[in-house]
Amino acid sequence: MKTTRKIFLALLAIIFITLLFVPVIKKDDRKSRIITTNFVAYDFARAITGSDNGISLLIKPGAELHDFEPTPDDIISIQQADAIIYNGGESETWLEDILDSLPDNVKKIRMFDYVELLEESDTNIINADEDEGDDSEKDKIEYDEHIWTSPKNAIKIIRGVAKALGLSEPTGYIARLASIDQQFDSLPKQTLIFADRFPFYYFTHDYGYNYYAAYPGCAEHTEANPKTIAKLIEYVKKSYVKTIYTIELSDQKIAKTIASATGASVQTFHSAHNISKEDFENGVTYADLLEQNLAILKENQ
Ligand SMILES: [Zn+2]
Repeated sequence: MKTTRKIFLALLAIIFITLLFVPVIKKDDRKSRIITTNFVAYDFARAITGSDNGISLLIKPGAELHDFEPTPDDIISIQQADAIIYNGGESETWLEDILDSLPDNVKKIRMFDYVELLEESDTNIINADEDEGDDSEKDKIEYDEHIWTSPKNAIKIIRGVAKALGLSEPTGYIARLASIDQQFDSLPKQTLIFADRFPFYYFTHDYGYNYYAAYPGCAEHTEANPKTIAKLIEYVKKSYVKTIYTIELSDQKIAKTIASATGASVQTFHSAHNISKEDFENGVTYADLLEQNLAILKENQ
């Protein structure tokens, strides 16, 4: 009798211990599924989790972020995810209804929540009215959505996202970004001329750069016109700059025209809206892109 009872108790203990550990093993085994909207959100999630395993990027490499529309498959994958990391802002209005439809177990992580937002600014933008929207939207405060162009913001966002995911901060990546931030801070400030869209308001605001640009950050149409070309030539001469910048994936048409009229060169200053397919496949990171920008500013100072 005593032995039977011992066996019974031992069995109970085994069952109890097994029950304790089974859910844990199951949870660890299951790959978490994180959906990210833009490249920056993808990069931050990859740095936090330590790999690209289980992380999906909706706006594919090389695609225009401002033209994105989700497919039915995208919507299903968001609904079945553990978390969605998105930017917030006017380019992601397509996401609003999807977010409303999500079950409670999908974590909604908005990068806008971790930084101080700046209102869109028309200062020093030649074609400022291009992006104004209809009359009903005139009184509405529009925040500039390109929060990630300042690495100071990127660090805050990464810390916030890590906490929201319940994971520890990627200290190595944050240290690298802090070093980039410190180097941007210590560079002498030059005037930056963008013969292109200008999504760098957070960057110029945080680091004190003067700038002139052809179009606002999210302008749909960026074709050359005589006013833009004349103004940019004037600014290049007035500011004595030797470099004209464009953002990534640009046709550089306006920039090349200004360059040949002024003798300046054309360089890409990366806004990290998106990266090329090739860069994505090579594992290029947001920090790599910022280091390229840093090298260009150092070279041109
Ligand atoms: Zn943009």
